[in-house]
Amino acid sequence: MNDHQPAHHHAEHHGAHDHHGGHEHQAVPSDLALRVKALESLLVDKGLVDPAGLDALVDMYEHKIGPRNGARVVARAWVDSAYKKRLLTDGTAAIAELGYGGTQGEHMRVVENTPAVHNLIVCTLCSCYPWSVLGLPPVWYKSAAYRSRAVIDPRGVLREFGLELADNVEVRVWDSTAELRYLVLPERPAHSEHLSEDELAALVTRDAMVGVATVTIPPAAVQS
Ligand code: FE
Repeated sequence: MNDHQPAHHHAEHHGAHDHHGGHEHQAVPSDLALRVKALESLLVDKGLVDPAGLDALVDMYEHKIGPRNGARVVARAWVDSAYKKRLLTDGTAAIAELGYGGTQGEHMRVVENTPAVHNLIVCTLCSCYPWSVLGLPPVWYKSAAYRSRAVIDPRGVLREFGLELADNVEVRVWDSTAELRYLVLPERPAHSEHLSEDELAALVTRDAMVGVATVTIPPAAVQS
């Protein structure tokens, strides 16, 4: 099952922590980011692109299209215990089974939420994010406030997201790098036994897979 001595895990009482090799801290926008920005400005100036349309497109990839891959991974793990075991043992391979994978050679590790453990993902140095399963990172994920406070005060950060954890729940904060990125396997909601894999996937949000939310079942979907 899951390894409970994770090398990259920051217990919440640890203030300082190390980052891992090959992870480039970029204080200025990367060459690619600048080129994208320049291209966008040019297209807008020429009247070829509507900036509001671009924002809507980014929003769609951030909230709708991207995270659907991760949601399918989570739902499969909930309904197929053998898949779940493979997912927690070798996330990269199990995610690739469903057809999702990176092209930059990064590895995926899936960390499981339980009644006793809640996992939270951050990239303290920049914005490493499991984009192959979650799409584009949200703005808050890249913010300095989230990156620093997720490690120093994870419970406070979760509270701001509306998630109040009981004192007896251990919080584990995982620092993503260019080589190793994390996905949270949220807890399957109670009273969801009658839902299909597709119906379960529809409940799984991006925020739950980053660890700033839990998956809930709408009252209307609870079978009476
Ligand atoms: Fe990063």
